[in-house]
Amino acid sequence: MTAMPPSALKGTIVPHFIDGKIRNLSSSLPALKLHSPLDGSFLGELHPADSAEIDQVVTIAQKAFTGWSATPIKDRVQVLFKFKQLVENDIARLSEQVSRENGKTLAESEAGIRKGIDVVEFATALPNLIGGNLLAVSSGVDCFTRRYPLGVVAGITPFNFPAMVPMWMFPIAIACGNSFILKPSEQVPFTSVLLGELLTRAGLPDGVFNVVQGNRPTVEALLDHPGIAAVAFVGSTNVARQVHTRGTASGKRVLALGGAKNHVVVVPDADPEITARNVVSSAMGCAGQRCMAASVMVAVGDTEPILKAIVSCAKSVRTGTDMGAVINPAAREKIIGYIDRAEKDGAKLLLDGRSVKVEGKEGGNYVGPTIIDGVKIGSESACDEIFGPVLTVLRVKTLSEALEIVNATPYGNAASIYTSDGATAALFEEQAQAGMIGINIGVPVPREPFSFGGWKNSKFGHGDITGVDGMNFWTQAKKVTRKWSARHGGNWMS
Ligand code: NAD
Repeated sequence: MTAMPPSALKGTIVPHFIDGKIRNLSSSLPALKLHSPLDGSFLGELHPADSAEIDQVVTIAQKAFTGWSATPIKDRVQVLFKFKQLVENDIARLSEQVSRENGKTLAESEAGIRKGIDVVEFATALPNLIGGNLLAVSSGVDCFTRRYPLGVVAGITPFNFPAMVPMWMFPIAIACGNSFILKPSEQVPFTSVLLGELLTRAGLPDGVFNVVQGNRPTVEALLDHPGIAAVAFVGSTNVARQVHTRGTASGKRVLALGGAKNHVVVVPDADPEITARNVVSSAMGCAGQRCMAASVMVAVGDTEPILKAIVSCAKSVRTGTDMGAVINPAAREKIIGYIDRAEKDGAKLLLDGRSVKVEGKEGGNYVGPTIIDGVKIGSESACDEIFGPVLTVLRVKTLSEALEIVNATPYGNAASIYTSDGATAALFEEQAQAGMIGINIGVPVPREPFSFGGWKNSKFGHGDITGVDGMNFWTQAKKVTRKWSARHGGNWMS
């Protein structure tokens, strides 16, 4: 098979993808201009969908739902088998697009897409899971469950994984028989359109998957629309909370994943080399713009050799080659502001990425790897989500003190420990209050079928976004209790 021509990348107007086709909308909302984080080059102008346009897309998706939901699931997932193949065949072009609009390296872009493919694979297996159980609950009486799609559903996604986060949502939602409207981040709008084109090539009926471009007003129009049954959201905590409140107020099922401040606890018996490589790749990978990134290292006791190895490993990360750009100039300013203030507050910069320049890419938004030591517990750089390639080091004497810090954060996405002692790891695993725990793993993203989701302010709503929880989120269960007169046996259920 050959790669598709890059149709969605032509021209300077960011396309929407509606009813199986690329579309431009003449929105009433102000247009946004997009530039590549890599070098500042102009990418396009985005016209956010307004509420009237959202209404038209919902009507299209509702029409498509009638036929799609009546298609047996065994047939529905055939589209996803083909889609997986098409994504794999086209992975170079997709990775290039992710990199251009998001600023990640090509390797990171491809890794994100492959993690998305994991969810597609899981979705192709849903016919094996969705059937439920049948039980003879009494003499001549059976109970069983049937799962039904919800109707038209929507996904709202952040900038940091232009392919992967949408792929946490739509493969499971459409395998379950829903029609899907995706509103990608206005900062990375192109990749989703390419995915839409591939779904159409894979045989998905028009209108089952749609991409509407936009920002806050577009999200609000989706949340308020009575024709949308459920919304999954991934983004920052404040917006996740607002989306959950507004969406549930209009009667929708909402799962909203928020931000994070993840701790890696390092104890003296950790392997210095493995720990160093792992902590650096967790903190600096994707330029620190991951909800699973190590943001705070809690050094327990004497971990000097490990910290030295971490600094030396981080020094070898070449900005612009091994590590990409941050999303926009404002994000760069925000990150640098945190570093400036931590320094003013008496912290010591073991590595300072503020003045890094990438030759030939002077228009890009780069911050080099940064490690801040001697940060005060409770200070802003120890507590806020910085979302940049910055590792903050806190020092404590005991594992209990480390756990106190880990558990004091209002977030609860991930927490990791580095140790060679099983009992220490078991204690941490038991007591750390986070939805995803790493043991000698810095980015403990569960692979399917284990589901993805945090605790506390990292998630609003019930359940996780992938795995069986994803199937439950995008469906409603009908419980049938059945008795035929020929099998009648008199008892209290009669
Ligand atoms: P963001 O919250 O700014 O935007 C996310 C989405 O919400 C976008 O589609 C955006 O258009 C929309 N949006 C923004 N402001 C809005 C508002 N006021 N009302 C309604 N919609 C609004 O997030 P971001 O900057 O794109 O992404 C980074 C954030 O996402 C980080 O906090 C990161 O931790 C988080 N994130 C979390 C996970 C997770 O699984 N928990 C995964 C990836 C990213």
